[in-house]
This record gives sequence, structure tokens and C-alpha cells, in this order.
Amino acid sequence: MLIRYARGLDSPDTGIVMRSGLVHGLKAGVVAWLGLASFAPASAHAGAACPAEFTGDCVLDISDVLVFVVEFDAGKPGADLHADGVYDFLDVLAFLIAFGEGCDPIDSDFDGLGDCVETGTGVYLGPGDTGTDPDDPDTDRDGLRDGDEVLGTPGGLDLPAFGVSPVRRDILVEVDWFAGEFQGSMRDFRPTPGMVERVRAAFADAPLVNPDGTTGVNIVIDYGQGGAFAGGQQLPGSPDFIQFDDDFNAYKALRFASNRKGYFHYAIFANRYNTATNVSSGVAEINGDDFMVTLAGSFSDYNAATTFVHEIGHNLNLRHGGFENRNYKPNYNSVMNYRHQFPGADTDGDSFGNGRTDYSRGLNLDIDENFIFEPQGVIGIPIDFNRDGDIDTAFYALNLNCSGPPVPCGTSGTCYDSFCSTLRDNDDWGSINWQRLLVSEDRLPGPREISECDNWPGK
Ligand SMILES: [Zn+2]
Repeated sequence: MLIRYARGLDSPDTGIVMRSGLVHGLKAGVVAWLGLASFAPASAHAGAACPAEFTGDCVLDISDVLVFVVEFDAGKPGADLHADGVYDFLDVLAFLIAFGEGCDPIDSDFDGLGDCVETGTGVYLGPGDTGTDPDDPDTDRDGLRDGDEVLGTPGGLDLPAFGVSPVRRDILVEVDWFAGEFQGSMRDFRPTPGMVERVRAAFADAPLVNPDGTTGVNIVIDYGQGGAFAGGQQLPGSPDFIQFDDDFNAYKALRFASNRKGYFHYAIFANRYNTATNVSSGVAEINGDDFMVTLAGSFSDYNAATTFVHEIGHNLNLRHGGFENRNYKPNYNSVMNYRHQFPGADTDGDSFGNGRTDYSRGLNLDIDENFIFEPQGVIGIPIDFNRDGDIDTAFYALNLNCSGPPVPCGTSGTCYDSFCSTLRDNDDWGSINWQRLLVSEDRLPGPREISECDNWPGK
């Protein structure tokens, strides 16, 4: 039998199938009943609101017609679409009308995916079986809506082309850069594959479990490497510095596709920012989407990667003390801490960096600067905090969160603060803010906060 029906209108914004008119549906149904037209496969997503969906596969097609006919013939209650206890032409007509109309899928969580494709298995098989939770619009809690990750965004951004998944955390970043002669030296601040790989590996190693059972975060960096990754590009000129925000926003307005707002972070790799003598390795919004990496003559894969992770950490809600701004804590083992930004995270418990690009996992012990106990160190391995050449077994007080040697309580020296109190580690990975970026470009409503990171390799 040849059948045609009026297919619902796929909305490019939501993926939701809209109802076509009753008249159109009725006409199509009658046409179909008369067997006059050709059959076209349906792609409509059907849900419980679809009386013509008889096979439960989320697609209206010839199989639904066949099952309806069998059930009608057998007098099964589901085929009594006219609901009068009689199996007659009115039921057939009701079926044809429903088939012709297409379906409104039920989308309980308003994420752009019908409940019937959100199978809740945690395994993504395709747009017809997404594995996502029908009652959670962001199943993997990465700030990207399930429907956007499966079908693309309302603004036409093809997120699947970037390899994102609705059941595994993803972060998207576009990097634009300058290249040329800066302050008398030729420099090219374009990210390299080596730098990008170091960042990717750091996020992939994150101790976070995804709905699909994998661990880690998939960070996607567009630096113009080809294919879908065509956003990242070289910026014109070779300014010794640009202003953050004014110049930054002007470049962003020109070079950052508007449909990436709310989905991608935007970074500029430049020589310096704000002044030609600024020795600040970067600047970032806290809980936002903008940041810069500015390493001038110290630009290298390693330095750029660790600074990238540091600055986007600010975008993700991390501060120089994790949950607080207090810097240089010897027991805060994160590249967010100036103590570890360039030396890297500590992997052997001596509180000094070992080149690992990582955020803190919050494993270190508290240190009360008024009652320091060297045998305890930061994680049970003794540390000579006062640098007197041995491990003291008596408690003492000292101001430890300093870039240089520790100083007595009440003095600051090179320390972030002058007072002595309890220093705490932070579970950075567990305290990332995964809230959706707003199209207005900030993650949170309210005052905008910027971190200028006055740290430099070797400082
Ligand atoms: Zn910083």
C-alpha cells in the first residue's frame, strides 16, 4: 500500500516536531486511505501524545500502519481510537488523521529532545536513542542542553560537529591570537597541537564520573585547525598590548560568531594586556567566558598550557585559593595557586610542583599557621616549613602562604596576607561551576568579576 502523510515541521531551533494543520492531516489521511500517493519515510519523533505511534520506536512509518491494522482487526483496545467500543471506519479515520498530523513529542524537561528518544541509559547511540534523562535538560551537567548537544543549537551552531556528547561533560573554547613582531622580537601566539594536547590531557584526567561511565572532561579547543574548527584565527596587527576589556571586546565582536555566545569560551593569546610592561600572564572573568593568555617572550607550549588551564579555571569559578582569593597556600595543590601555576601540581607530597597540569583534588590536610606541625607536612610527609634544615617536632607559628620565605605572623613580606590562620586545600574539580553560560556572556547574573593574574614564569 502506498501512503503519504503530512509530515510535521521540524523546528531547527528545538528539534521539536510541530503539528501541521488538522485539515492538512485529514486530507493526507484520506489520500492515504485511498492509496493514491507515495509513501515517504517519517522522521517525526513520536511520544505518548501520538495516537498513531503503534511501534514505540519514536518514528511514524509503515510499521505503525501495519500494527494498527493488525490490532484493529483483532479488536484490541488501542485500536479503538474513536473510543466508542466499536471498531469501524471512524477509528481508521482517526488513525489516518493522527498519522497525517505528525506528532508533538512530549518533552518533559524542555531540552529540545522528545521523551521517547531520551532513553535514560547513559549511553548515546544516536539522535533516536540519546541515553539522556528525559527529566533533566542537561543530563551530563556540563552547561550544554541535551538537545543542543544532539541536534545543534537554536542559533544554528552545529555542536555535534565538535564531538560533544550529551552524556559526558564538554567544554568549548575558541582561541584567537596575534603573531608578528612584538617589542622587537618575532612571536607567534597561535596555540600549537602540543599545547592543546597538554590542556586536553589535564581535563581528560579529571576525577569526575560522567553519565556514560567515563571519567574526565572533554575540552574542545578551536584554534582554526580545520573542518568544523574554523573559528579560531589570527588577529590583525601585532600590538605590544591590548586593553582588557575594551580592545578585547572589539576583537571579539568582530571575530567571535554570535551563535557561539553562551556555548564557547573566548580567549585571545596576545603579547601583553593593558600596558607594554605588564608582567601578568593572563586575565580572566570569574564565572564568565572571556580570558587572555599573555606571556610575551615566555610563551611556550608548557607555559601557555598551564596558564590556559589557570585562566579558564577562573571562568569555571576557581580562585587563587580555590574557594577563596588567598594565594600561595602550600597545601592548595592547584595550578590556580601561583605557587603551582608554572611549577605545576605537586605529585610527591613535598608541597613543590612537579610539572603536572592539574587542578587540586582537595586531598591535602589543613595547616593552622599558629600551630604548624612539620611531621604532618601537607599530606603526611614531613616538610621543613621554616627552612631551618630539619623537621621540628614542636608546634610553632609562621606565616606560610608567601611567594618567598615564610615570615612571622603579623608581617607580610612576600605573603598574600599578614595574619596567621588555618590554610585549606580545595576540591577544585568538585567545585567547578557547570551552570550554563548565558548568551549575555556571563555565567551568573550579577556583578562581573575579573581576575588579573600577576604571576610570571620564574617569578
Ligand atoms: Zn589567576
